[in-house]
Amino acid sequence: MGKKGGFRDIERKTHGYKPVEERTQDFFEFLVPLSKDEMEKQGARCMDCGTPFCHPSCPLHNIMPDFNDHVYRNRWEEAYHSLSSTNSFSEFTGRICPAPCESGCVLGLIKDPVAIRNIELSIIERAYRKGWVKPKPPKNRSGKKVAVVGSGPSGLGAADQINKAGHLVTVFERSDEVGGLLRYGIPDFKLGKEVIDRRVEVLKQEGIEFRTSANIGFDIPAASLLEDFDAVVLAGGSTIPRDLPIPGRSLQGVHYAMEFLIQSNRRVAGKDVPQDTEILATGKDVLVIGGGDTGSDCVGTSIRQKAKSVTQIELLPKPPDGRTDQTPWPTHPGPRMLSTSSSQEEGCQRDWSIMSKQFVDDGSGAVAGVDFVRLDWQGNKFTEIEGSAGRLKAQLVFLAMGFLHPQHEGMLDQLGVEKDDRGNVKTDDSYRTSVEKVFAAGDMRRGQSLVVWAISEGRECAREVDKFLRAGVTRLASKKKTYSATD
Ligand SMILES: Cc1cc2nc3c(=O)[nH]c(=O)nc-3n(C[C@H](O)[C@H](O)[C@H](O)COP(=O)(O)OP(=O)(O)OC[C@H]3O[C@@H](n4cnc5c(N)ncnc54)[C@H](O)[C@@H]3O)c2cc1C
Repeated sequence: MGKKGGFRDIERKTHGYKPVEERTQDFFEFLVPLSKDEMEKQGARCMDCGTPFCHPSCPLHNIMPDFNDHVYRNRWEEAYHSLSSTNSFSEFTGRICPAPCESGCVLGLIKDPVAIRNIELSIIERAYRKGWVKPKPPKNRSGKKVAVVGSGPSGLGAADQINKAGHLVTVFERSDEVGGLLRYGIPDFKLGKEVIDRRVEVLKQEGIEFRTSANIGFDIPAASLLEDFDAVVLAGGSTIPRDLPIPGRSLQGVHYAMEFLIQSNRRVAGKDVPQDTEILATGKDVLVIGGGDTGSDCVGTSIRQKAKSVTQIELLPKPPDGRTDQTPWPTHPGPRMLSTSSSQEEGCQRDWSIMSKQFVDDGSGAVAGVDFVRLDWQGNKFTEIEGSAGRLKAQLVFLAMGFLHPQHEGMLDQLGVEKDDRGNVKTDDSYRTSVEKVFAAGDMRRGQSLVVWAISEGRECAREVDKFLRAGVTRLASKKKTYSATD
């Protein structure tokens, strides 16, 4: 808890943002952090609520009352130790987590919840500045080797914990850089890439090996991992995007969101983008189909590339402004409650209950817009509203309607792992796949989700891998003992 009764006197304050006109001139992060004193006051708002629902609301089970209290009492280093005991990468979640903990905060029943996510970010950034985040290689090595495929938050979370348990970890990543969607999906203005590099450096110094440009199932046969390693963790993400197969889909200028976002992140990082496949929003009317995080990132990126206009449409109806009977406290309402992202604030038209019918050809094979019809939603069913057809002008369209499942071709097919009904890798409760010594975690296992879930899955999977390897170590050790005894 924080200060007794602090929640009565102190109002919620959060980190600010640079003004829209300023922040949209570049791709840098635009957070304006509160001062240390202000943050300590925010920690003081944490009540002695008895049963802190923030804690179970967080997939990582962070111990918010503990670190809030430490911050209030100016014990930042202790706050860091509390936070890092459950969250491997609070510099990622402190920036981009939708904060289900705040949805569960008991104070949220009567007032604004504690600013937990900002407190978390302040703790970890202070910990880096003060040198508290130090490489801590394990003291003993088990002699076991583990391959982790994929270097997104789930792969990194698994690698970190497996390495800490003393096993030797090699992370294989098919991209040229480590980070998964943190690197080549989420734009720099939400998460600067130096934040990933800083953490990866610590992980390297702790003994984790990273092999980039290594596509398992293509560059390296999946079977070779089974020969060379004692356990394998599949953390390849959910990468197959949902398509919109309506007439005109193949027109120039209609792209999956990720084609655009990957390119933009590469360009911002100063890397080559082949000119013949370049996608730029500059001077164009941009239409984003899909209302989630991916769509929102297309909006912010298009605005920074100086699009003429940006419109974002959604098939589903406009969600309510606040909680409803379907989203009572302490549930995290997610997309079932209206929210406005910082990118949407920057100048985007939003519309709901719209179904795209066909992409319109400008006469030269390029897209000029989309024909749509408005929908009337009754519960989970919709009907098209007669006479509501219209046309939206767009020379660039991004499909941001989510991801279906991981890529099957290559690694998963070669390993022959079983999949669930949705095409994700199927595991038991111990993150074990149908193939001996192969585990899976993150979006590749649970489907498209959140960074906080990916880290949590990676950590939990690591524990199961460790148990699996230790069972082997124990057996070996006891065999050796018998041998020594008779030697
Ligand atoms: C544009 C976008 C914005 C998002 N914004 C947010 C947000 O603001 N907040 C939030 O909480 N979540 C957000 N998400 C969701 C979040 O990024 C994911 O849930 C999370 O990254 C999943 O982590 P992961 O480690 O399971 O997979 P990924 O991050 O997808 O990483 C998987 C990695 O595996 C690699 N890989 C795959 N197959 C192979 C192979 N055969 N060999 C070698 N490497 C391989 C891939 O190249 C990739 O680097 C966003 C998602 C997208 C697409």
